[in-house]
Amino acid sequence: MLSIVGIGPGGYDDMTVRAINAIKNADVVTGYRLYVDLVSDLIKGKEVFCTEMRGEVERCKKAAEFALAGHNVALICSGDAGVYGMAGLMLKILEDHPEVETEVIPGVSACQSGGAILGAPLSHDFSVISLSDLLTPWALIEQRLEAAAAADFVIVLYNPASHKRKDYLSRACGIILKHKSSDTICGLVKNIGRDGQMQQITTLSELKDTPVDMLTTVFIGNSQTTVINGKMVTPRGYKL
Ligand code: SAH
Repeated sequence: MLSIVGIGPGGYDDMTVRAINAIKNADVVTGYRLYVDLVSDLIKGKEVFCTEMRGEVERCKKAAEFALAGHNVALICSGDAGVYGMAGLMLKILEDHPEVETEVIPGVSACQSGGAILGAPLSHDFSVISLSDLLTPWALIEQRLEAAAAADFVIVLYNPASHKRKDYLSRACGIILKHKSSDTICGLVKNIGRDGQMQQITTLSELKDTPVDMLTTVFIGNSQTTVINGKMVTPRGYKL
């Protein structure tokens, strides 16, 4: 069995029972080192294969090798394994090995855990866009930002920056500002469920100049999003 496990944002309390059991039942655990470290209490005595960032293909091929050799493997991803995670790549690598049994175990994605910290920003239609152009051309990212902003979606941005991509959030805000007003309510959450967790509610014009890092998830409200007692809330439309 090869389990592709979403472990949620980081804390044990945010993991599902299914994810915990899959990790406990595995004899080989593999994943990006930071995520494997987050579940270190669950994996004592197991064989562990970690890779660093950008080691995704190597990591999944290794997981396939272990599964083909008959091991129970848990491939660990942060958040949900299918949201910018390893699930698609892993299933593709096993394309010619239908004999390997696989399961994708869902986890709490950063848009959900971060949204809960901010309040209720996702109570109406939303779109999720990654600003990472490592595997996606920037022109396509711009096109999607523009379409989502024009349609007044709440927009969640994953991968808003990295060491090399410091101004991407600012560029994205510039595009979104073509369609959304500068006082649109926005929020950001950093290190969800991990040491150093912090959140901030701001406006779109201020967000444009806010420094962020790769462990931040950004929320841009729709035209109805407001702040209620310090929480970011997008109304669903109920009449009181
Ligand atoms: N599969 C993950 C997403 C991986 S992409 C999920 O479903 O959550 C990596 C991006 O996710 C980061 O750049 C950040 O935007 C977001 N992210 C993941 N974990 C996070 C955390 N603990 N705190 C804040 N953002 C996080």
